[in-house]
Amino acid sequence: MEKGKLYASIPKVDDFLNDLEFMDSVSNIPRKIIMDQIRKNLDEIRKLISNGESEKKVIEKINKIKSKIIIDIIDYDAYRLKTVINAAGVIIHTNLGRSLINEEIMDHVHKSLTHYSNLEYDLVEGRRGSRYDILTDFIRDITGAEDVLVVNNNAAAVMLALSTVAKGKEVILSRGEMVEIGGAFRVPEVLESSGASLVAIGTTNKTKLSDYEKAITENTAALLKVHTSNYRIVGFTESVDAEELKPLKEKYNIPIIEDLGSGVLIDLSKYGIEKEPTVQESIQKGIDIVSFSGDKLLGGPQAGIIVGKKKYIEEMKRNPLTRALRIDKFTISALEATMKYYYNLDEAVEKIPTLRMITSKKEDIKKRVEIFKTRLYDINGVEISIEDSLSEVGGGSLPTEKLPSASLCLKLESISPDKFEQALRKFKTPIIARIQDEKLLFDFRTVQDDELDLLEEGIRFALNYYGE
Ligand SMILES: *Cc1c(COP(=O)(O)O)cnc(C)c1O
Repeated sequence: MEKGKLYASIPKVDDFLNDLEFMDSVSNIPRKIIMDQIRKNLDEIRKLISNGESEKKVIEKINKIKSKIIIDIIDYDAYRLKTVINAAGVIIHTNLGRSLINEEIMDHVHKSLTHYSNLEYDLVEGRRGSRYDILTDFIRDITGAEDVLVVNNNAAAVMLALSTVAKGKEVILSRGEMVEIGGAFRVPEVLESSGASLVAIGTTNKTKLSDYEKAITENTAALLKVHTSNYRIVGFTESVDAEELKPLKEKYNIPIIEDLGSGVLIDLSKYGIEKEPTVQESIQKGIDIVSFSGDKLLGGPQAGIIVGKKKYIEEMKRNPLTRALRIDKFTISALEATMKYYYNLDEAVEKIPTLRMITSKKEDIKKRVEIFKTRLYDINGVEISIEDSLSEVGGGSLPTEKLPSASLCLKLESISPDKFEQALRKFKTPIIARIQDEKLLFDFRTVQDDELDLLEEGIRFALNYYGE
């Protein structure tokens, strides 16, 4: 067939439009999306013809075009932010949204946001109030700090603190604490962009108290400590704890700023997990300004929490940058509800998903895997087993800590693990699993109980994906 006839055999937009408008799965989808996907598919056929593709191939494509258009429309209409099942066993997985917020908190957030609130209204005086006051009492009670300010995330918190106390001046930081968090967050760069200049002291493995004192000049505005939350330096090392800096701070009258990163509020060693320095300890040591994330070990929404001396926090509140970094009411509502759990540590560990997952016991996880495995009794061609595995805390927290866990393991006869893993990600609720020793591992520490039906459906979907 010549090209002209092939072009003529391409269906018209209207040929599909009428049909699609009466299809249940498509009829509620915006017309623009429907039209765009029809046109895109018709253009693809035109391109095939103009590229000289064989008649057989073109006809084949045309025959399948309607079902392809329907799939494309439904795909395009789906939300881009999808819920996924985290079977990777990394609890604070930054790429998967870090900490989960529980239903109880979401009920509270729902109520706060479907109605007006006193977000910036003083109910006693009947006039304008401050959104920052809402979080002050609970965070002050839990951390023991004099004052509190919460901004968009911890990167913003560090930037705001430095910009407020050290703009145009020098900040002293050990070379052993020049952390890169990931993405574009490198402590020396954040420091420079706050308008302060960095004075690096010591070496990667050793920094001494005398290094700090030697670096202090009349231009020094702060001593910065950064918790090396995502790596450890071991061996021939020496560093100066923030507490040891106190005599210098008093002698020269300069504040100590500490970026704690993960922001843990409970002593995890009680649960057999490596101890992370807690926020309360930093406050007790008298650190002037301490900052940490809301969505790492604290287990709340994305936020940067600054606690410390009232004098500095008040200065920060007056910094115009605060307005640019301010938190919204979703965060305030969810963070307030999260903080409330911390009045009772047992409740915090039970109800905050991040803490619950970190402290889950291997035997309990294993039991959940065993029960789930029985659902897959009828699957053939796959070796299904339960194996010991190791979960990670993630989020740049506790980098050397591996949590003993249990995983469902699938070893496939006919599909490569890579292909199977890809197919799992194509499921309507994508499943993120791990490949290890040619097997697919599903670590149940990070799989939620209300995801088990979907997990089963997704595994069956992925097994059939290449069978079609
Ligand atoms: C994670 C982290 C940050 C960045 O915190 P975000 O809340 O992600 O902005 C900064 N400093 C340290 C030490 C961290 O671990």
